[in-house]
Amino acid sequence: MLDDNCIFCKIIKGEIPSYTVYEDDEVKAFLDISQGTPGHTLVIPKTHVPDIFAYDEDLAQRVFARIPKIARAVRDSNPDIIAMNIVNNNGEVAYQSVFHSHFHLVPRYSDHDDFKMIFKDNSNQYNDAAYQQIQQHIIDHLEA
Ligand code: 5GP
Ligand code: ZN
Repeated sequence: MLDDNCIFCKIIKGEIPSYTVYEDDEVKAFLDISQGTPGHTLVIPKTHVPDIFAYDEDLAQRVFARIPKIARAVRDSNPDIIAMNIVNNNGEVAYQSVFHSHFHLVPRYSDHDDFKMIFKDNSNQYNDAAYQQIQQHIIDHLEA
């Protein structure tokens, strides 16, 4: 269930203090120490799973179901919050640094606050066949 060497498991157990904003049997939500923007909050399952690939449907239901309520509370906590990015990093290359799955709720204040995400448009490098090949490879790997 919990991993003795994991910093977020230690936060769940209360061995490391956190500024908790919501907690129930399934999840804990607390302020990210970095405060990328004011109100930056992490939502974590109360069981040690390293990343999204380790979720089963049941855990996903239990964790994801709670995110909108927490997101609304973060948004409503400050009238200057006009938007929110919800980010989930999986793997070091994807900027994951703590290997206990977590969702970042990053309140947004303007298009020049301290948060950036870049989605590059590479569509000019793709034709119908290329899209279809990728589509098929993904379909082929869906679990039953
Ligand atoms: P990742 O880079 O894995 O997506 O995000 C990990 C996040 O955990 C970082 O934003 C980092 O600031 C946060 N973090 C790391 N250690 C602690 C801690 O001890 N307490 C809290 N509240 N946040 C932490
Ligand atoms: Zn953990």
